[in-house]
Amino acid sequence: MSVRETAAPDAIPAAHADTRYEMVVGLEVHVQLLTRTKAFCLCATNFGAPPNSNVCPVCLGLPGALPVLNERVVDLALRAATALECRLHETSVFARKNYFYPDLPKGYQISQYDRPLATEGHLAIENAAGEATSAVRITRIHIEEDAGKSIHDRFAGASAIDLNRAGVPLIEIVTEPDLRSAAAAGAYLRTLKQLLEYLEVSDVNMEEGSLRVDANVSARPVGAATLGTKTELKNLNSFSAVERALDAEFARQCDLLDRGQRVVQQTMLWDAGSSTVRPARSKEESHDYRYFPDPDLPPLVVSADRIAQIRRHLPELPAARRARYRSAFGLNAYDSEVLTASKSLGDYFEDAVRAHNDPKTVANWVMGEVRAALNASKREIDQFPVRPADLAELLDLLARDTVSGTAAKRIFALMIESGRGAAEIAQREGLLQVRDDTALRDWIEQVVVEHETEATRCAKGERKLLGVLVGFVMKKSKGRADPRRVNQLLAERLGV
Ligand SMILES: [Zn+2]
Repeated sequence: MSVRETAAPDAIPAAHADTRYEMVVGLEVHVQLLTRTKAFCLCATNFGAPPNSNVCPVCLGLPGALPVLNERVVDLALRAATALECRLHETSVFARKNYFYPDLPKGYQISQYDRPLATEGHLAIENAAGEATSAVRITRIHIEEDAGKSIHDRFAGASAIDLNRAGVPLIEIVTEPDLRSAAAAGAYLRTLKQLLEYLEVSDVNMEEGSLRVDANVSARPVGAATLGTKTELKNLNSFSAVERALDAEFARQCDLLDRGQRVVQQTMLWDAGSSTVRPARSKEESHDYRYFPDPDLPPLVVSADRIAQIRRHLPELPAARRARYRSAFGLNAYDSEVLTASKSLGDYFEDAVRAHNDPKTVANWVMGEVRAALNASKREIDQFPVRPADLAELLDLLARDTVSGTAAKRIFALMIESGRGAAEIAQREGLLQVRDDTALRDWIEQVVVEHETEATRCAKGERKLLGVLVGFVMKKSKGRADPRRVNQLLAERLGV
């Protein structure tokens, strides 16, 4: 097709398009599985190894080399399929997906075609209140191997091939065209990513390509029952790229339909720089893969026992954990969502609650101070120097009024810096709350002298100045005075 036909659309207001057309989206997500070795050979899968160092005759496709299935791949794929409530098929078949590309040394990818591992699942999507509002149907989940990587931007005038990724195990999770907006697609992807992270089937690292998304999108007049012609969006390397690309492609299609033109079924590439889509060259979208069963691999048979075993060992999933935080800890929907955002943050929170049994206070600290410190240091919770028991020790001091709220925040900062315990720091830095009346009266006398006007007015009945004077005493004590006792003693002193 000509470039003109698929050029960027004239700017049309999205709202205009929205009222007349409905967006229909289905997603294909490739997930790199968390295995130490590749799908059909013993090469390592580690990201960032020197180019072409993790290769062997099998993944290079040398003549006579035979693939042997890594059983860990099957376990992880089954775990994902079980959590997505799919129908698991006792027998599935590996097929060869044939195409030529320089980063595919065998000339085919081992995949599954007409007999995939699992079909007919679904994933529930929750709203902000933690209620499941919709379910996206999963069409299929199949196992396949990854291709190598072509590198076009490293050497002037030449492309390079790195085959470390060739043969790395993937699952592809395909949805029905159930999504109706870019935001819904984003919500599905975030929910899916979190689920996969909880299941520990993938490191879900998008920057390293562990999670890759292709989107099929079409537009149809609102109220129409049949689907419009779809295009496939590729080159989407973040969830926000998926959302923006869907909106751009939908607007382009609406514009074509408005002008009475037809949408051509083709692959579109997202260009994040210009926020536009452009058609892929036809070479990049050959669909005639001539699948046939791989004669080197027997059908994959999974026993009912194995499936039952997988089911028994499923971890608590994000939705169940959020529900438990609401019911067992009395947290609201928002707090439950934030604290379960990653499995490790939830584990941290629960370990701290085990040591300091006040879920609401622990939640506030984890969501506030802990997360702020993580953001500031760009660290993950696993590497955070203040461990749950350390945080609990600090919150114990705070709960017993041994340290003030202000002092606790200071101590927390020093705990991160020094790795020392809360009590030790409080002692060392003189941050223990002072309740000794002699010391408190001493500070009060100084403040009464230094702020004579306020003290006199307060004594004459302007009681609201008491708080101001308490503030001065707190400042003088560098936050160590017990504010309640200061309040009492100061009121006595001024006779109010
Ligand atoms: Zn290999």
